Amino acid sequence: MKIVKLVSEAQRWTLDQRAVGNRVGLVPTMGALHAGHISLAQRSHTICDRTAATIFVNPTQFAPSEDLDKYPRTLDADLEKLEAAGVDLVFTPEPNEVYPPGFSTYVSPPAVGGTLEGASRPDHFRGVTTVVMKLFNIVPATHAFFGQKDYQQAAVISAMCRDMNVPIQLEICPIVREPDGLAMSSRNRYLSDDQRQRALGLSRALKAAEQQFRSGETDGPQLEQTMLDALAEAKVDTIEYAVIADAITLEPLPTIDRPAVALIAARVGATRLIDNTLLTPGN
Ligand code: AMP
Repeated sequence: MKIVKLVSEAQRWTLDQRAVGNRVGLVPTMGALHAGHISLAQRSHTICDRTAATIFVNPTQFAPSEDLDKYPRTLDADLEKLEAAGVDLVFTPEPNEVYPPGFSTYVSPPAVGGTLEGASRPDHFRGVTTVVMKLFNIVPATHAFFGQKDYQQAAVISAMCRDMNVPIQLEICPIVREPDGLAMSSRNRYLSDDQRQRALGLSRALKAAEQQFRSGETDGPQLEQTMLDALAEAKVDTIEYAVIADAITLEPLPTIDRPAVALIAARVGATRLIDNTLLTPGN
């Protein structure tokens, strides 16, 4: 596994792979890797000839009040996991390499980034679209792999690629969960034992809404109430949102008469957690 820290090295490697006809898969991450991240690399292996991962805690997607400095950094363990997963290249730059002095160009996020996470975290998606567009240029891959865990992020990146004619194929991979249902996240390591138990409220609330939907309930507000009740019962500390939305536009959906997604953001202690599940009529 080749490990590079310079933009020029990552570009050269990728262009060399493309020149000999290899399909290259890109797996962007912020490190602190878990089985969810590794599932993206594994999916890449099934489609691509070579896989490149990036580890970069992107400062532009964190607000000043957020956990940029505290964000877990576990580079040695991450590299071991990527090597074991058969990744070919890891790009792990310093912030100055990605944002050198004088950097001043940003990608304005699409409309689908305006609600939910975009409302709770102003400027977050501008940081995401900017860094992802940069990574697509630094590692000009044929395919890029993202997780459904960050549902709105995947929708934002898809819309950006469509709107900007980015020549890359996106693959959105299923959420990897702990055996008890908790969606894997780098931030789960912040949780105490008690908080870890209460964090199960998110996946339980989604399961409750899903079950109710499967039994015939299609009323959006009713399903939202079911999620709010389950979150309250699990004693999460703050519910930021628990909504039923159109799976494509993420607009609120009063009745599920088309593909929908249930999305939750909640805090347990100081840790902000997100989770979601698709609700597809006729499935
Ligand atoms: P992050 O390091 O949090 O920026 O995540 C990097 C990529 O891994 C993103 O595309 C995430 O959606 C994806 N990811 C994070 N957690 C999971 C999970 N539990 N299952 C599947 N993909 C995930």
